[in-house]
Amino acid sequence: MNKYIFVTGGVCSSLGKGVAASSLGALLECRGLNVRMIKCDPYINVDAGTMSPYQHGEVYVTDDGAETDLDLGNYARFTSSPLSRANSITTGQVYDAVIRKEREGRFLGRTVQVIPHITDEIKGRIYAVGKDPDVDVVIVEIGGTVGDIESIPFLETARQMIHELGKINALSVHLTLLPEVAGGELKTKPTQHSVKAMQEQGIQPDILICRAPVLLDEATRRKIALFTNVETEAVFTSYDVNTTIYEIPLIFYEQKLDLVVLKKLGVESRHADLRPWKRVMEQFNARKGKVRIGIVGKYMELHDSYKSVYEALFHAGLANGVEVELVKIDSSRLEGESDPETILGAKHPEGPVDGILVPGGFGQRGINGMVQAARWARLNRVPYFGICLGMQIMVIEWGRHVLGWNDADSTEFNQETKHPVVSLLEEQVDVKNYGGTMRLGKSETIAMEDSKLFKAYGTKHIWERHRHRYEFANQYRKEMTESGLKIAGLTPDGSLVESVEWPEHPWGVGVQYHPEFKSRPTDPHPLFRDFIAAAKDFKERRGK
Ligand code: GLN
Repeated sequence: MNKYIFVTGGVCSSLGKGVAASSLGALLECRGLNVRMIKCDPYINVDAGTMSPYQHGEVYVTDDGAETDLDLGNYARFTSSPLSRANSITTGQVYDAVIRKEREGRFLGRTVQVIPHITDEIKGRIYAVGKDPDVDVVIVEIGGTVGDIESIPFLETARQMIHELGKINALSVHLTLLPEVAGGELKTKPTQHSVKAMQEQGIQPDILICRAPVLLDEATRRKIALFTNVETEAVFTSYDVNTTIYEIPLIFYEQKLDLVVLKKLGVESRHADLRPWKRVMEQFNARKGKVRIGIVGKYMELHDSYKSVYEALFHAGLANGVEVELVKIDSSRLEGESDPETILGAKHPEGPVDGILVPGGFGQRGINGMVQAARWARLNRVPYFGICLGMQIMVIEWGRHVLGWNDADSTEFNQETKHPVVSLLEEQVDVKNYGGTMRLGKSETIAMEDSKLFKAYGTKHIWERHRHRYEFANQYRKEMTESGLKIAGLTPDGSLVESVEWPEHPWGVGVQYHPEFKSRPTDPHPLFRDFIAAAKDFKERRGK
């Protein structure tokens, strides 16, 4: 029988619940268990697709094209749990499904209620992920903080499942915060109250993970245990790390979190192979020097907006033995009279960037600044990586500055342009039967054999995820390629351009898809790896 672990949070948000749940998943995988991860989001949006990156951070896209919460990105980086639409459950989806069933008359005249109808719907979705007999453990992270109105149906579902399955098959792991007051004392009271709030929902946490600046001492653990009915040996610390979040699986391992979880679930403990995570830390500690990467985008204030991109750059740093310094540049700063040399180049007080990455994005603001950044990188032979919008920017820049079409643009930003080098498929006369909807999820790209794309992946057949509406305009393919822009990747039928590269440039690569979603610290993405290698090389050559 497979086992369920419910991860909840208390005291306040942003305690790193996603990382804690993922790290536990990683540790259980190190013990040879087959793990699945689920995120329950209490918001009423059906998915994260319509949410602003400013408010909610990036939208994480799965192979099957679901637009999900960024926590799924953590799951993908820490575990090998397959992730699809089924692994992201929102209040919006649940109510939508229940209301639809009600309209179809499927409740046979009964009054439709939160308990049992909403909770049954949630339960059905959780059990569906765990139904595969190969699955050993399903970790269900419940978003929000205990005490919030929104998360009550999810907590109630967890309570019912723990009751139905028995404690040996279902556990509650609760994350809290131990704040430090003047004098350095760590306070346990908020944790006591948070566990009380759980108990009021009918759930007795089995394991506590306490966020604290330092590892909790025995006396503090005993005190927490006394007040919360949790055993002392089941009180763990997620202490502040000044290395990387990827050390957390090892930190939990040292405290025997996985052993206690296995014991409580009655699973025979198997040998733990922590080599992949130890190797990540060895690589981390062996890094020498750094490269500065300018990320030129529009959602710069919130780190979470480009979370997977930043993580993938970090992984690529590990692969290349260098620290990657993120230089976040709001692209609108590069517009108007501004001199790129003062923002990107040698005139910058902290020195020039060694590479430029233009990530995905929507809407007109800041586009011309991204075009400036691409132009600067192309002319100065600075490594450039364009992702989705960043590839479209390469095409626009080429149109404007190489082909001399000053108004070259995407029809997303300028409908009146005489040179719509990026446009909607239905605007492109030679491609039919495509709707104007977003292209989402996994599909195949065929790489040209003499491309940097092929060199990075080592294969012609590339499978990556998409999330965009606009495409390289096919009517300009001839002029673009004849003037030197290289088409490095196409869809298998040749109808859509998936990747372009600058000729005679050390590393100028744009891809229409989102490689960042598939990078892991234990398996850095080949394009990010080669981009950072090129940046490192560029820095060394410039230094000479
Ligand atoms: N806005 C562009 C499009 O819809 C790019 C999208 C993206 O970068 N994710 O095609």
